[in-house]
Amino acid sequence: MKRYDKLYINGAWVAPHGSGYTTVYNPATEEGFAETCNADLVDVDQAFAAARAAFPAWSRTTAAERADYIRKLHAALERRKDALALAISQSMGCPLEIAKIIQVNCVKALEKFADRAFEMEVEKQVNNSLVVREAVGVCAFITPWNYPLYQLIGKVAPALATGCTMVLKPSSVTPLQDILFAEAVHEIGLPAGVFNLITGKGGVLGDAMVTHAEVDMVSFTGSTATGRRIQRLAADTVKRVCLELGGKSPYIITEDAPLEQAVSFGVKDVMINSGQTCIALTRMLVPASRYEEAAAIAKRVAESLKVGDPMDKDTYVGPMSSMSQRDTVLGYIEQGIAEGATLLTGGLERPEGLTRGAYVKPTIFRDVNNQMRIAQEEIFGPVICMIPYQNLDEAIRIANDSIYGLSSGVWAGSREEGIRIARQIRAGGCYVNGGDFNYDAPLGGYKQSGNGREWGDFGIHEFYETKSMQL
Ligand code: NAD
Repeated sequence: MKRYDKLYINGAWVAPHGSGYTTVYNPATEEGFAETCNADLVDVDQAFAAARAAFPAWSRTTAAERADYIRKLHAALERRKDALALAISQSMGCPLEIAKIIQVNCVKALEKFADRAFEMEVEKQVNNSLVVREAVGVCAFITPWNYPLYQLIGKVAPALATGCTMVLKPSSVTPLQDILFAEAVHEIGLPAGVFNLITGKGGVLGDAMVTHAEVDMVSFTGSTATGRRIQRLAADTVKRVCLELGGKSPYIITEDAPLEQAVSFGVKDVMINSGQTCIALTRMLVPASRYEEAAAIAKRVAESLKVGDPMDKDTYVGPMSSMSQRDTVLGYIEQGIAEGATLLTGGLERPEGLTRGAYVKPTIFRDVNNQMRIAQEEIFGPVICMIPYQNLDEAIRIANDSIYGLSSGVWAGSREEGIRIARQIRAGGCYVNGGDFNYDAPLGGYKQSGNGREWGDFGIHEFYETKSMQL
């Protein structure tokens, strides 16, 4: 078992003040394979003290200097891509070959963030005022386990570009790619204290991070329940709080959509990463007139996806990220059956031949009513709810009948019609007619899916303050 016994604070690997280790498990084998040390509140203080001390000099660097560091970091991460993919795959189960694409390709976005550093030098003269941009300050970053490197880059890259300093705490389920990232930071000689990494339990460190006097901004990605708590805790000191939370995204397939393509896209979208994707299109809204046809396609596509060992290059669906996440998902499948939804495929049994590991069969419920818990709550597993609708107005009403508003999808007969429908869905994003994910577009939620925007040019906005100087 590999043991990581240091935290990265103030430009050095240091022994923690805290005690004990947290085991990192491989959800495919249920065996622990690494241990990371537990930071405590003294470590939290030291990390933020380092970030605060580094802030004046780092925030005064030129955009060109910061861009140069970010480019070097990009190169250092490119060299570690295989190790990053393996670390993620082993600790949360995403199949290795898929992880190389959906989990690790995000490092390329660093190049764009290097360019975005120059946005900080944009000044505007407004009558007698000079309006300038300044880094927001010291940031506390808390990230989840489902796309752990992607969430790291989405926060750290804009923070570096704008001149912020930071303390990052990854999920204790998936800390290893963050350690590799800190090694890259060290290798490129980023000034001490700009980036600090602590590991340990969110329940122990989280409150101290979000209430800390040295923190100007908290950026959190995770569940809506934890997000609510963080917002409440950070309110006392009026910190800037950016929340990227859960989703229950609708996917409207119209009467004249190419059904085979549209349904197949929807099923694969949910099943990738074992359904643990915040923007997964988990509510498939299908016209009643084409419901039987769509159900047959969905069943066939779901059953064609190989479930199994994440190291096997043909695997599409690996295990859930942990046994406890498996229990949660199975609980929802039981709930769906109890609520009267019909199992079209999948269910509670283990996938064939997989006697251990956190596996769940790709599962599709049909005859789902949007009021059911399985249609309202985020399951975060390979589970699709197929909901029939009579007309487009009803489809849009069902799509918007959710506390969430992170993402959505439409497949319509034409792009124009798709865009017309997309504009009526209250969500931060919409995938129209099978559109691809785009690292240069903003991502974030409406409603209880959060209040932040990460990625793209918008991704740096939350990291700077605007100052007016009246001349
Ligand atoms: P989680 O809320 O359980 O944990 C997220 C992080 O918060 C972890 O680092 C955890 O250690 C930490 N944490 C736990 N308790 C805390 C506390 N009291 N105070 C502060 N931090 C605490 O979420 P998760 O299960 O790791 O991740 C899955 C969730 O993340 C899903 O709801 C998913 O939709 C959401 N998510 C959202 C986005 C987005 O961009 N909107 C992206 C990915 C995941």
